[in-house]
Amino acid sequence: MAKPGFSLKSSLQLRLTMGYAVLIAALLVLMNTYPLVMSQNLMFRSQQTALENQGALVANSLTTADNLTPETVEQAIAPLDKLDVSRLLVTDEAGLVLFDSQEAELTGRYALSGEIVAALEGNNAFSSQYASGCFSSCSARPVMTRNTVVGAVCLYGEDLHQGALLQELQRNLRLISLVVCLAVLALFAAFSTLLSRRVGVLLGGIRRVRAGEYAYRVTMKGHDELAQLADEFNQLTGRLQATEAQRRRFVSDASHELKTPLASIRLLTDSILQDEAIDQETTREFVEDISQAADRLIHISEGLLSLNRVDEGRTIGRERVDVNQQAEALCRLLIPLAEEAGVRFQETLGEDCTVRCSREDVSQILRNLMENAIKYNIPGGTVCLRTFRQGEEVVMEVEDSGVGIPEEELPRIFERFYRVDKARSREAGGSGLGLSIVLDTLRLYGGDITARSAPGEGSCFTAVLPAWSETEEEAEP
Ligand code: ADP
Repeated sequence: MAKPGFSLKSSLQLRLTMGYAVLIAALLVLMNTYPLVMSQNLMFRSQQTALENQGALVANSLTTADNLTPETVEQAIAPLDKLDVSRLLVTDEAGLVLFDSQEAELTGRYALSGEIVAALEGNNAFSSQYASGCFSSCSARPVMTRNTVVGAVCLYGEDLHQGALLQELQRNLRLISLVVCLAVLALFAAFSTLLSRRVGVLLGGIRRVRAGEYAYRVTMKGHDELAQLADEFNQLTGRLQATEAQRRRFVSDASHELKTPLASIRLLTDSILQDEAIDQETTREFVEDISQAADRLIHISEGLLSLNRVDEGRTIGRERVDVNQQAEALCRLLIPLAEEAGVRFQETLGEDCTVRCSREDVSQILRNLMENAIKYNIPGGTVCLRTFRQGEEVVMEVEDSGVGIPEEELPRIFERFYRVDKARSREAGGSGLGLSIVLDTLRLYGGDITARSAPGEGSCFTAVLPAWSETEEEAEP
């Protein structure tokens, strides 16, 4: 089986290690080359200046001689102070050696090195190299008499002292590089272990929650990104836990609600089937009860289907709906129910109450609120329905003079399957889903609902929906 956690961790670590390694290698290469190259250049330049100065001195002293011969050359350079060069070579205009301080036997032979040739052409030339801890340089310049090249002076210099200094610098740089390398490695190992441990804590938490342990929370010290990630994860898990608890409660409530009418149907059918002497009238009564239980089952199923639709964010449609039209149609439909309960209707319908919703949903919202106002009312009571425009919203207010709701129960009445008076709700055919459907539907269209109530004085439900705006109408395809 694949180990996703391990591969993630290793790939992260690998990428970090590779990144750091490349960076450090580049830095070390730079540190080991740049100072050395710069020092070498400086040393070459100082040798060039020294050799060129001395070369100019020798060339000047030779300019005075009319004719360059080994003798005139020796005579001209004899008075010069001791030169700080390893070799001095003088040639005539054809490159024939007239003087060589190192190899006297070369006198009378041709010395045509690149530098001497350049000098005989009238140019100054310089070359240098560094090898095996020694700087070797060569500087050549022409000897001029009356603007004519009559010969060349070539000076050689060797500097072991500077070479040794450069070698020591190289050794020191290597040592520093090694120390830096080890320190960075140690720091990186510590940092990477710490990081892996923290990522491991997060991964462990994710796995435990994935396995269903929703109460698990990750503990991560600090305020860095990982600590923030852990905090976000804990909040997410908290929501997951709440949703899961809600789901379980919903399933258990729904099963319980469905079980009650099913149990009565079972009981009633058993009674009919087992009692052979049962008379027709009793059978009819039982069948009517079965029909009522079936109605309740249908009512609950319809409620569950509505909730499911709203949960999925599906609207029936969005059109221009006149709330007053729906309210009037609904009042006509509910008059028999109101009369049966001995309740009177009062309607106050304001102007310009159009919303962007579906007719069915507006009707369902009003129906649930009005039915509740009748169901939880008292004989001789009233139900007032008011609609009015308030800015960009349309308000629908349903107020009754019924039994009311205790203050502590008020925050819970919009929960699914929650009932204040269970017996009364069941008796009236309620499922405990009506108000949660109302709230969820309103929110789906950008609206909301609030309730105020006092036991024995009645309740008032205020629902709002965004009003239909002409700009929306223009935007319609
Ligand atoms: P039900 O199907 O039980 O009416 P609802 O979700 O519509 O479910 O209402 C939830 C509970 O809120 C009801 O059981 C009832 O106890 C209380 N309730 C709702 N509307 C009113 C009202 N107008 N007056 C008093 N109590 C109400």
